[in-house]
Amino acid sequence: MERIYMDHAATTPTAPEVLDVMLPYFSDNYGNASSLHSFGREAREAIEDARFKVARLINAEPSEIYFTSGGTESDNLALKGTAWRYKSRGRHIITSAIEHPAILETCRALTKQGFDVTYLPVMKDGIIEIEALRSAIRKDTILISVMHANNEIGTIQPIEEIGRIAAEKDIYFHSDGVQTTGKIPVDVKALGLDALSISGHKLYGPKGIGALYLRKGVKIESIIQGGGHEGGLRSGTENVPGIVGLGRACDLAHEIMAKEAERLAALRDRLKTFVLSSIEESWLNGHPTKRLPSNLNFGFRYIEGESLLLLLDSKGIAASTGSACSSKKLAPSHILTAIGLKPEDSHGSLRITLGRGNSREDTDYVGEAILESVERLRKVSALRPVKVSTV
Ligand code: PLP
Repeated sequence: MERIYMDHAATTPTAPEVLDVMLPYFSDNYGNASSLHSFGREAREAIEDARFKVARLINAEPSEIYFTSGGTESDNLALKGTAWRYKSRGRHIITSAIEHPAILETCRALTKQGFDVTYLPVMKDGIIEIEALRSAIRKDTILISVMHANNEIGTIQPIEEIGRIAAEKDIYFHSDGVQTTGKIPVDVKALGLDALSISGHKLYGPKGIGALYLRKGVKIESIIQGGGHEGGLRSGTENVPGIVGLGRACDLAHEIMAKEAERLAALRDRLKTFVLSSIEESWLNGHPTKRLPSNLNFGFRYIEGESLLLLLDSKGIAASTGSACSSKKLAPSHILTAIGLKPEDSHGSLRITLGRGNSREDTDYVGEAILESVERLRKVSALRPVKVSTV
């Protein structure tokens, strides 16, 4: 059976062009970038070339890029590093209720260390209210962290506006750019960011590599102590193949992102129109237009998301749900809850995230498969109210 992968927000395949440039750094060019000999120098040059490529994609300077092990570490570094450095100035942090656990759990850990965190609510469409942000700011606020786009519902936040407010109030501003970097334009200067998290495996690079952009002049504490790599901010022998792969992935994204975003948005809209017009009691979660070109998040009444997921899996389709067991918890995701879905409406969510490998044939096939699966599940659904005949 042919398989169709539509779960690109979870991870992307490593692009063949990326794999090609990585391989020699496992076999021939295996030097430690700290070594002075030619092996070491080759590794160092490769790292600096990759740093340039990552920086170019987000309009930063190479010296503002620090390689990490991925999005989770970048988020931890940005939040803990800022909090620890500026705790004498203040202990208040503002974030949103719909962040990834890499941010939320870090905030929880910081709370245990005496920091106070405000979680901004979001509106029905998943966007934060700017006025709520303004009124959350206090004299002791040292950091605002709001994700660029949400991993589940694809909603894109008004980062530029938040950046302006943060700058006015002289508060550091970090954004989790894991879902946007390489997918839509990310310009750290235009967005007014002090820090941005990036993950390799979400942009057709390898897993286990990421980066943190840190604006020149912003000083934060390191969270990993050791040999002083990456300007002392992130110790540990550099993952040279991973870094080279991330650089190439950023390069590729730089080349094809605009066209690809347009192609995916057209596929997304076609699939959305088909599903919403052919399935009763279905809707789109998240903002209708301020969303990633690759993201669809449907709600289907009287359906269990995980049953739908398994049925689609049996047809060779890989998707995702924010409902119940698939997210390893019995409750709906905190994101669906935060946009105000009633518990019964958050049961049947289906996330489709498109990517480079998907064609129009794929989305048409997936549309039909969703329709067929929803109809089948509804026939046997215990959630559906039974119509009682009064005659
Ligand atoms: N932030 C967001 C918004 C994500 O979607 C993810 C991954 O799902 C992460 C952070 C974590 O990134 P990584 O898997 O590279 O640790």
